[in-house]
Amino acid sequence: MKRDLTDLALFGGRPALLHPLHTNQPNTVDRTRLFDRLTWALDNQWLSNGGPLVREFEDRVAELAGVRNCVATCNATTALQLLMRAADLSGEVIVPSLTFAATAHAARWLGLEPVFCDIDPVTGCLDPERVAEAITPRTSAVVGVHLWGRPCAVNQLGKVAANHGIPAFYDAAHAIGCTSDGRPVGGFGVAEVFSFHATKVVNAFEGGAIVTDDDEFADRVRALHNFGKGLASVSEAGGTNGKMSEASAAMGLTSLDTFDDTVRHNRANYDTYRAELADLDGITFFAHDPEERHNFQYVIVEVDEETTGLSRDLLLDVLHAEQVMALRPIGSPACHQLEPYRSGRPVSLPHTERLVARVISLPSGTTVNREQIRRVCAIIRFAVAHGTAVTARRRQG
Ligand SMILES: *Cc1c(COP(=O)(O)O)cnc(C)c1O
Repeated sequence: MKRDLTDLALFGGRPALLHPLHTNQPNTVDRTRLFDRLTWALDNQWLSNGGPLVREFEDRVAELAGVRNCVATCNATTALQLLMRAADLSGEVIVPSLTFAATAHAARWLGLEPVFCDIDPVTGCLDPERVAEAITPRTSAVVGVHLWGRPCAVNQLGKVAANHGIPAFYDAAHAIGCTSDGRPVGGFGVAEVFSFHATKVVNAFEGGAIVTDDDEFADRVRALHNFGKGLASVSEAGGTNGKMSEASAAMGLTSLDTFDDTVRHNRANYDTYRAELADLDGITFFAHDPEERHNFQYVIVEVDEETTGLSRDLLLDVLHAEQVMALRPIGSPACHQLEPYRSGRPVSLPHTERLVARVISLPSGTTVNREQIRRVCAIIRFAVAHGTAVTARRRQG
């Protein structure tokens, strides 16, 4: 095992972890059910093009999201592009910088200009007041992101957008199964996008979906994701291939079969982390709204360097040396800190910059259990207890 100045063994008596633990490990699925579905698809000889498994998957996602329409896609990035194309967006699109790069990339790929807006530091999501300020005559939409599963201020964002006569959409890649004011994520704005990438809470190997209550919008998306077939207007710029395969739907359905168990497991993991780190000064949990349903896929903590004596990055180094492969969360660094956006027009996003420098995503999901979390927490406590000394050693080294 790698030894360096961040190895807590140097301080003696640190709690050991036997196997490496990773943030963003795929959740487990019932293999028998998955293989049965794949066998059925092979026997059926219907492997793509809106087959029965994709249709069943779409129905179940629509039900979970409480919406009338779901169009499953090959991934969420393509779903975002389809959504922007179907809405005929042009010019500028307002997005948070604190998101996975795909939100901004999808716009840029279509020749749109992503305009980054700051967040509400409590929710990590777009601040409606900042959005109102950022709207110009060139703005054609607002795309909010329900960061780490915490829904955006959908009512206020919807009002701001409506006041300017532009649509609001949501990248809900983290938020399937979550609610805002008791209403399921999926039904907000004109449409929302889910991701079913292997590391997301519902996993289709690769996959995405657009969900909406707007039937006409759903028809346009459905046509566009299948080469534009069935589009009435010839002025449409053709279409693309954004279809989900039957194999992905088989995985997605099998993942959905145990979705409630997964959320229960995630919830228990989250509660264990909270209990084990409750009285540790300088480590705080990124807040969920206890009144709402949540999928608890991500366990995000903020590290206060002044209190712990450890920077976020040094705590990550310590965890890695101890075989805990925690990560910076999705959205850290923020989009405007990454190319190609970093070289664009400079923006001031103080709340975004502060938050992304402080956060860690801890290992969770169905492959991580209570005993492992106890050990991770023991390592964090030990690291914080020796925080100043670890930092001093790192400086010397
Ligand atoms: C994962 C993710 C995406 C992209 O999803 P893919 O299915 O991998 O294309 C988009 N937005 C956010 C916020 C994500 O976390």
